Amino acid sequence: MIRADFALRHASQLATMLPREDDPLGRINDGALAAREGRVVWIGDDRDLEAQVTLDGDLLDAAGACVIPGLVDAHTHPVFAGSRADEFAERVSGVAYHAQQSGERGIARTVRATRDSDVVTLTELAAARANRFIANGTTTIEAKTGYGLDLEHEARSLEVLRQVAEQTRLRVIPTFLGAHVVPAGVDRRAYLRSLMDEMLPAFKPWAVFCDAWCEAPAFTAAETRAVLGRAKSLGYEIRVHAAQLAPGEGPDIAAELGARSADHLEFATPAQIKALAKAGTVAVLCPSANFTTRGPRPPIEAMREAKLPIAIASDLNPGTSNSESLPLAMSLACVQWGMTPVEVLAGATMHAAHSLKLDGLAGCLRPGSFADCIVVDAESPEAIPYYVGVNRVLQTVVGGAVWQPL
Ligand SMILES: [Zn+2]
Repeated sequence: MIRADFALRHASQLATMLPREDDPLGRINDGALAAREGRVVWIGDDRDLEAQVTLDGDLLDAAGACVIPGLVDAHTHPVFAGSRADEFAERVSGVAYHAQQSGERGIARTVRATRDSDVVTLTELAAARANRFIANGTTTIEAKTGYGLDLEHEARSLEVLRQVAEQTRLRVIPTFLGAHVVPAGVDRRAYLRSLMDEMLPAFKPWAVFCDAWCEAPAFTAAETRAVLGRAKSLGYEIRVHAAQLAPGEGPDIAAELGARSADHLEFATPAQIKALAKAGTVAVLCPSANFTTRGPRPPIEAMREAKLPIAIASDLNPGTSNSESLPLAMSLACVQWGMTPVEVLAGATMHAAHSLKLDGLAGCLRPGSFADCIVVDAESPEAIPYYVGVNRVLQTVVGGAVWQPL
């Protein structure tokens, strides 16, 4: 008998997200799972549960709803203060996003509001976002800094992420994004020097990943290469904001450095996509940001042809995607880009987990994985993106315990 301290049963369809020849979602009809100390210890047919598992703990009855792994969001910016609702209103009236990135507007405005807030306020704001992630089915996020943009305030953003992970049950994988933009009023060279000589070495113990925005409003290809090359030599794993607003070298740099992810990629060329696939990089696409900026469709066919894994992310941020909902991002990727429900399900689970080096732990359900799963009011996992902009998540289980809002 297998001993467990948590079990879930009566899932009409339980998607393991471990592809089988007969089913890309590796589903079990009328499935059940059992967990102990936060990890799955048994998964199988509901009728076998009682014969194989001794339960000393909570039992969750999915009551015929479907169950999939907790969603994994591979691109978020959750540490910020202030609102840019007025910029959203301008954009719907025709102002371009990049036209809002000058002077004290756009990202610079969020940097000011974030610096003007104390740690307690920033932690409360980020924890509220963490709770919305969990309520919408996400159990693991990659979380970037990038609105502090100096040694003191970037350190504070990393501290906020640490506190949010401790206070909520969301799994938070921190990324240092000091190379978001050059902060207003600071000499470019001096900022790059501080980034490479002070911030990168100081933050290595706290941040798993280092990211940079390689694009005209932010950093040139040469600057991105210098920052991320230094980060790699210090032992960071690399992510790159690449080719979102215009063609550029971002995807090439991601491939050269063996980045875990290249993100956005609306303007990536077929050659760049092939290079990313060869480098083992994951394409992290951000449908909600693409939607609000009315960006072009990313080259999905070229990605499929190159067998480049595609992750789907919320890109939660105050400028282009004020949304913690991965199911909404999945719906948008289907409707706007023609991705299939199976592709977006894999994109919000296993491919996202792969980009975070959490293969086999998050984004799938099997013995040994995190006992993170969601019970969804949908007739099948494939039906999840069919429900647009409404939350159909009934329960979120994190580490073998049902999540209750704080
Ligand atoms: Zn981003």
